[in-house]
Amino acid sequence: MRLERLTWPKAKAYFDANDTVVVPIGSLECHGRHMPLGTDTMIPNRILDKLEEKSDVLIAPTVPYGNTDYLASFPGTVSLGPEVTYQVMYRILDGLRKHGARRFVILNGHGGNNPVLDRLSVDMQEKDCILVQMNWWIMVWDLVEDWKGDRPWRSGHGGAEETAAVMAIDPSLIDTDEIRDLSLKELSEDLPFSTMAHVRYKGVDIPVRRFTTDVSDNGWVGPDHPKYATAEWGEKMIEASASYIADFIEVLKKVQL
Ligand SMILES: [Zn+2]
Repeated sequence: MRLERLTWPKAKAYFDANDTVVVPIGSLECHGRHMPLGTDTMIPNRILDKLEEKSDVLIAPTVPYGNTDYLASFPGTVSLGPEVTYQVMYRILDGLRKHGARRFVILNGHGGNNPVLDRLSVDMQEKDCILVQMNWWIMVWDLVEDWKGDRPWRSGHGGAEETAAVMAIDPSLIDTDEIRDLSLKELSEDLPFSTMAHVRYKGVDIPVRRFTTDVSDNGWVGPDHPKYATAEWGEKMIEASASYIADFIEVLKKVQL
């Protein structure tokens, strides 16, 4: 059920009987030379198309921008930064709260939004609400271990996983001629790359957020090479994410607030 398609009496009827809303957010940012800038928005939107078949939960319009300052120098990338992302999301959630929403399911397509969503979680709890983050690309690693790729860390950007999900939406969105190997840039000889936001020293991952242009010459980072992506895999991940979210919402509805 899409909020933008309802009349206000129908929205009122929903909130009279329900207090759960899905609020999706993505990003407009570089994902390597081979993927579209709207990757982080398109994938949640596809998951929502599937979710609509499985759940009658109310779905708010997707926010197509997010916090991505570290990618901002790649052409076409536009970041709201953390403060504006927070304000946009706060106003959306608080606006929905005033109509009766108390359980917010954030379907998120972009890791840079997580610090903002953490802060919103606390602020919404102070208003007797609950906010859960559905980070689809991380969730699916726990659903099927093979989907995690060949690196142990829990982040990814423009690798096989996201490439597969976009292929499932529309294969023509992937510029296969531009799928290339990349060279990751170390911070120094002693402080090699570990993830796009970490260096490794003596076996320990230390967070060091750098501009992505200083990490990857291409704009994709991993976890695995986009050449391994298939549309079939992408379709399975999208379907699994939608099913998981539909089930989670039923359990979330039973939480006492
Ligand atoms: Zn992404």
